[in-house]
Amino acid sequence: MPIYEYACARCAKSFETLIIRRSDEAEVACPACGGREVSRQMSRPAAARTGSDGGGAPARGCGPVG
Ligand SMILES: [Zn+2]
Repeated sequence: MPIYEYACARCAKSFETLIIRRSDEAEVACPACGGREVSRQMSRPAAARTGSDGGGAPARGCGPVG
């Protein structure tokens, strides 16, 4: 889903909002102070994983049954 991160220019609060249509960007307001002076951030905190090496069994806490 197109979730963008915004930063408020008034209270410097960062929040994420769901942008489905392009017109939704004009209606983005800060959830803290309700200001419209928000700027979209390029970096996304979620889905930013690096170092995932393919192959090998994942570490599990399942010990031998006994
Ligand atoms: Zn704000």
